[in-house]
Amino acid sequence: MTSQKRDRSDALSREARTLTPGGVHSNVRLAGPPVFFDRGEGAWLYDVDGNDYLDYLLGQGPNFLGHAPAKVNDVVAREMRRGSVFGAQHALENRAGELFLDTVRWPERVRFGMTGTESDQAALRLARAATGRGKFVRFEGTYHGWLDNVLASTEDGVTSPASAGQLPHHLDDTYFLPYNDAASLEATLAAHDDIAAVILEPVMCNSGVIPPRPDYLARVRELCDQHAVVLIFDEVITGFRLALGGAAERFGVTPDLAVYGKAMAGGWPVSALAGKAALMDLFADGVVHAGTFNSSVPACAAVIATLTTLREEPPYEQVEKHGSALMDQIRELAHTYALDLRVQGLPAAFHVSFGPQEPVHDHSGLAGLDLERYQRLARTLVDHGMWVAPRGIWYVSTAHGEHELDVATSRLDAALAAETT
Ligand code: PMP
Repeated sequence: MTSQKRDRSDALSREARTLTPGGVHSNVRLAGPPVFFDRGEGAWLYDVDGNDYLDYLLGQGPNFLGHAPAKVNDVVAREMRRGSVFGAQHALENRAGELFLDTVRWPERVRFGMTGTESDQAALRLARAATGRGKFVRFEGTYHGWLDNVLASTEDGVTSPASAGQLPHHLDDTYFLPYNDAASLEATLAAHDDIAAVILEPVMCNSGVIPPRPDYLARVRELCDQHAVVLIFDEVITGFRLALGGAAERFGVTPDLAVYGKAMAGGWPVSALAGKAALMDLFADGVVHAGTFNSSVPACAAVIATLTTLREEPPYEQVEKHGSALMDQIRELAHTYALDLRVQGLPAAFHVSFGPQEPVHDHSGLAGLDLERYQRLARTLVDHGMWVAPRGIWYVSTAHGEHELDVATSRLDAALAAETT
């Protein structure tokens, strides 16, 4: 498959642009090719023109169990017959909460939400309320949602709002530091006594899938303790994907609060803020967090079914095996075609780009990579039936097996051959 026909997608895309700005309902999708999908099944997507794609984008991460997982969707469909939202409690909330806490293990309380963006906001508000301080530390290149106080981009070491309509003062409450650099965090915490929280992606998935240096997270924990600053892990990508207990379990460092989303509900829109009771219980004592659709029946059913599946059949070894083999294949094919394609990250989520092979440790290191060239390759990969993100992050699901690895290898081979001719 080299050049797919996408006549129906093209027609739908033209129509969509008359209905919604840019023809998309999330700006992130503006960068992707205008493909309209008909359905997904396991690791596969099928577009409205009948083309198939091996999916390594997973809906930007939520489809960790593959598309349309029957073990989740059947439970959701059954439970939904009773209704969706009641403006009050229902017993499934307790079962979902109990299972969540028992699975992640370190938190004592959980609040469900709909998106990572809003649960991140709840975490920041809670930290401010708990400490009585106003500012927070975060890191260049991380993503904590699209709202005014967190949407930012860093270029040449300067961080500024990433969207028209944001005001410069929206980022005034934030100290931006380089990731993986404990010394700069130590200096900032020593110099300022107005810091409520340090928030970070424990693996910086939104910028090149940069893993923490050994002991970095432990040092961050230590410094937060020294200064009585709330440590927030944004586990929206890493949660339930790197281990049942997410990055906290994988790296053996426990935050005070953590935010989850994506992989926790088999493709359903659910997020969670979890943490120590002393902090979390402030939500019942003056700190506001709300949402009409929070902890709906389908959301709770999806969480219960997803976590039960992950606990009964832990997929982590298989996901790691597929991811490592795929990373190796990409490197091998790059060598065959004499391309300076590079891969870094963890097998469950890794980053592909062009550039020098040395590992990148922070956002500024990405400047040495050719991300635009990768964006062009991503288009070629899509044309060869590989559904991948232009920004270079690849996700592996539990539905990616031996067959998918063979298909991925031959489609990658064909796409790289096209790239080099
Ligand atoms: N935090 C991180 C680390 C994320 O990757 C994302 C989404 N990619 C968010 C927060 C925001 O989540 P959502 O898109 O569900 O609002």
